[in-house]
Amino acid sequence: MGKRVRVRYAPSPTGFLHIGGARTALFNYLFAKHYNGDFVVRIEDTDTKRNIKEGIGSQLDNLRWLGVIPDETIDTKNQDFAPYQQTQRLSIYHDYCNKLVEGGKAYKCYCTVEELNEERIIQKAKGVVAPRYNRKCLNNPSRNRKEFTVRLKIPQKQKYSWIDMVRGFVEVDTNDVDDFVIMKNNSIPTYNFAVVVDDYLMEITHVLRGEEHITNTVKQLILFDYFGYTPPKFAHLTLIVDESKKKLSKRNNGELLQYVKEYKDMGYLPNALFNYLSLLGWSPGNEEELFSVSKLIEVFDENKWSKSSSTYDVKKVNWFNKIYMNKLTDDEYISFTKPFYNSKYKEKNKNNDWIEKMLLVFKPQLEYGFQIIELADLFFIEDIKLSLEEKTFLQSQKSDVTIKSFLGFLPNYKEKWEDTKIKNLITDVKNTTKNKGKDLFWPIRLIASGQASGPELSKTLELIGYKNVLKRFGDYEKCSKK
Ligand code: GLU
Repeated sequence: MGKRVRVRYAPSPTGFLHIGGARTALFNYLFAKHYNGDFVVRIEDTDTKRNIKEGIGSQLDNLRWLGVIPDETIDTKNQDFAPYQQTQRLSIYHDYCNKLVEGGKAYKCYCTVEELNEERIIQKAKGVVAPRYNRKCLNNPSRNRKEFTVRLKIPQKQKYSWIDMVRGFVEVDTNDVDDFVIMKNNSIPTYNFAVVVDDYLMEITHVLRGEEHITNTVKQLILFDYFGYTPPKFAHLTLIVDESKKKLSKRNNGELLQYVKEYKDMGYLPNALFNYLSLLGWSPGNEEELFSVSKLIEVFDENKWSKSSSTYDVKKVNWFNKIYMNKLTDDEYISFTKPFYNSKYKEKNKNNDWIEKMLLVFKPQLEYGFQIIELADLFFIEDIKLSLEEKTFLQSQKSDVTIKSFLGFLPNYKEKWEDTKIKNLITDVKNTTKNKGKDLFWPIRLIASGQASGPELSKTLELIGYKNVLKRFGDYEKCSKK
């Protein structure tokens, strides 16, 4: 690549950082870093009515948490192309807009909203599927009112095309394009206009964005053409869909975690999410899936961007996260998961040793930090509830033998209630009853923990505690006699 690669992620702060936006940002980041280029984050806040207060903060904080670090944005050291927030660049857009008006490429439109609506209704009544502006103000330039918008004069019967880095050759007829508004009547530019001025002034070489923007590209190409600038290269990344093939959006999938902050709050690791998102629309061309950020930067290849949509699979995110959690040292893992435990069980006043042991017991299976709350519940639950199938199992002859034998040996271990010794207790039961497998372990596990499966039995029993195990067996005996 000749010129220094410069890409941008350009969020509108109308919402929080969504998985889709994060994927776009991450692809831009990897592409830039792969070519030793610059990754710019530009805040596109011209839709002032829809902006939300926490929008900018949510975008930047969560990107940084994820590890998608901007080289240039509103608060970075490098400010060579500042300002990076569109509402602070209004005078720039006005100058560029004036140039177009003076050159006859754009014109003022004095039509009121009512006039425009009326015209739309008339066209619809005539059977026009996509009503267009009727160019009233282009044809009658004498009209004059205080309030006006500026519209771009779209060339007639021309074709604009580009080679999209994802979908190849794309061509659009200008007859399908309306004289769209570039400057609103409040003197704020529209997205399609501001984006071109900024991509040009910020020397953006590649525009990687979601495919929902593909219909905007022709409008932007016309503007580049009018200004006499070479447009950047475009890549329209394919959709992310859920398992039922619906586009990932709040409306379609209310239940699904879709905002980066939700993943952070639930105890996902940024590198795990980074790794997973990198595979939504890119593949290394082999079966490999686990990549460090530096490896991704090295192998990321625009020729391997996917041409079809990618399915977002939370189970797979959990799988990645579990693997990344397991890569943590025990100390790192403990400091990561302890706050989640404390958020629910702090007042249980367990000592630190117990808490750390308990957290580590779940290390091989924990999918995300918050899950510890659900898993640790077995240690505190007052009333063990068993299913009918489990109760029936416990009433079998073999279970009965295991339970009696376990209760018989239990007092011998009162003073040495720790994992390795509890293993001996289980061996005692095994040797005397000759029970093994399910007949040996299940009765003990079910009665002591209320669960059919879980971490290693001896460790689980140690954490439940001698007294509590005794109590739970007592409760069971009472119940089963009723
Ligand atoms: N502000 C636009 C958005 O949030 C950016 C589109 C683009 O990358 O050009 O969708």
